[in-house]
Formats: sequence, structure tokens, C-alpha cells
Amino acid sequence: MTDPQIAIPSRAPSATTADDTVMPFEVAKLDLRGRVVRLGPVVNEILARHAYPQPVAKLLGEAIVLTVMLGSALKIDGRFILQTQGDGPVRMLVVDFIAPDKVRACARFDKSRVTAAIESGDAGGTTLLGKGHLAMTIDQGPDMSRYQGLVALDGRSLEEVAHEYFLRSEQIPTRVRLAVAEELRAEAGGAQHRWRAGGMMVQFLPKAPERARVADLDPGDAPEGTAPHAVEEDDAWVEGQALISTVEDVELIDPSLSSERLVYRLFHEPGVRVFRASPLRAECSCSRANVEAMLKSFSQDDRDHMVEDGKISVTCEFCSAYYEFAPADVGARI
Ligand SMILES: [Zn+2]
Repeated sequence: MTDPQIAIPSRAPSATTADDTVMPFEVAKLDLRGRVVRLGPVVNEILARHAYPQPVAKLLGEAIVLTVMLGSALKIDGRFILQTQGDGPVRMLVVDFIAPDKVRACARFDKSRVTAAIESGDAGGTTLLGKGHLAMTIDQGPDMSRYQGLVALDGRSLEEVAHEYFLRSEQIPTRVRLAVAEELRAEAGGAQHRWRAGGMMVQFLPKAPERARVADLDPGDAPEGTAPHAVEEDDAWVEGQALISTVEDVELIDPSLSSERLVYRLFHEPGVRVFRASPLRAECSCSRANVEAMLKSFSQDDRDHMVEDGKISVTCEFCSAYYEFAPADVGARI
């Protein structure tokens, strides 16, 4: 094994921006693996197209960063879907990452409850989501079994929910940072709003698995007086968490700070190795053939009820593409 102190970094950090990329990195000395996601035009295209209320857009932006971060780490040929369902003003968020580089997203929300939340000054992500669950699904096609992980949403941020997911399902100590912001730029024709987003994840993956032990989660319904489960955390993981906790939102979204410079700024002391960044695109996977197949999978009764003015019309919730079918095309009766 090469000595990280000597071998890293292997070249000078790039000074250029890293918009719409995900870049893996490794801090060998601390047994950390991580990824940095930086989104410019991709997140702006998705959020601007939907024109959601600002707090809804910001929350969906966080979900997009988290999905890209997790989905791009899976070596799959297929789709990684993150979906929330809750009783808050935002009923549902759906983000699809289609390997290797496509992302699409949409939200369903109750407009009057979102407006009320904004007016009351409490439109943060945890309020908007309410209680419910977050599901992460890996879909590798009809012939493969789907894998689904579920975490409760109970007034916690998406960052906290991600930590719990990794602790419970994968037993990997993980820290995630997510940031979304709206950038205002003076341009001909007036101020232009643009969405930007970024995130970072580090995971503690020591060769000896017993080093990755962490305290159990809050026992919840344990009898009163039960001492919380305490485990002394590994020094390397303590240091790794301390370092990622210093990342500021503004660094994650700064268009002039490259991902390489960002991780170098944080981890230059233990030494960090960066891997090739991969590009990301905002692109929907809907098509006339897909929509037709979906309609044909509905019951006869459902199809019949979809006929309006002698036709069936479907608008893609992700990208607003509009599809129109004659009832006979999909076996519906007028
Ligand atoms: Zn679409």
C-alpha cells in the first residue's frame, strides 16, 4: 500500500468548477471513502422547470443531491429511486437516478399548507415532510428483484435520515452534508435566479470491521432509566466526522471552488486521493412507448375512466412532456 502522506495528492488540484459532477475520494489514513456532488445547470433545470414554491424546491434539491450521491456509488445497471411519503405539506418527493448519469425529480405538495407554512415562518424541510417514511429502491429491470430500504421520517432532516439508513441497513458509519441555494445574478433583462446544490458524504470503512462499531440508536421504548448504549468511537472516525462537519454550505455550492480543492481543503493533513469525476445530466426517461406500456398495465376499468373528450392524455410529472392516445391504442373503451 502506498503511503498516503507521500503519494497524495498525485497532481495539483484543478482550479476549475465542477458543476454537474460527482467525484469519489479516499482518505486512506482515516479509512474514509467519500463522494462530492456539485450541481449547477442540472439542479437548476429540474427545479426551474417545475416552479415549485421556494422551500419545496430547496427540499427537492437536497433530495436530488442525496440521490445522486447514493445512486452513483452503486455499481448498477438500472435505476435508484429515492421517494418520501409523509403527512406534511409536501406529500411526496421522488428522485430517480438512472445509471450512469441521468437524474429526474418531482414533488407533490398541498399548496395551501405550503403557503401557510411559509407565512408562519416554519417552512424548513423537516416541517414540510412531516411524519412518514423515506424509501430507497434499486430497480434493475423486470427480471431482477427490487431492493428496498425504508427509514422513518419523523421530524428529522434528510441528512439525519441518511445517517440512520446507513447505520441500520448497512452498518456503515456515514456522515452526509447537503446544501441548496438560489443564486441571484444581475443580467440583461433583470435579475436571474439560478439554483445550485452540493453535497458530501464520508463513510468509515476500516479493514477490521470491529473498528466501525458505533453506539446503538436511541432505544426508544426501553424502560426508563436504561443507560444509553455507549461505544467509544474509533479515533479515525472521530477525526473524519470532525473534518466533514467543518464544511460550510457556501463551500458546497461555490461555483468557483472545484471539488478537488474542496476535499483538499478539508483533508490535506491526513492526505486525500481523488478519483475521476463523472458527469451528470438532467434527463427524463419517459417515452411514448413507456407511457403506452404503463397505460396497458392498468385495469380495464381504470383505462376506461381515463378517456376524456375521446382521448387519453398523460403529462409526465417529471418533465411535463405531453402524450396523447386514441382509446383503442391502449385498449380503453369510450
Ligand atoms: Zn418525462
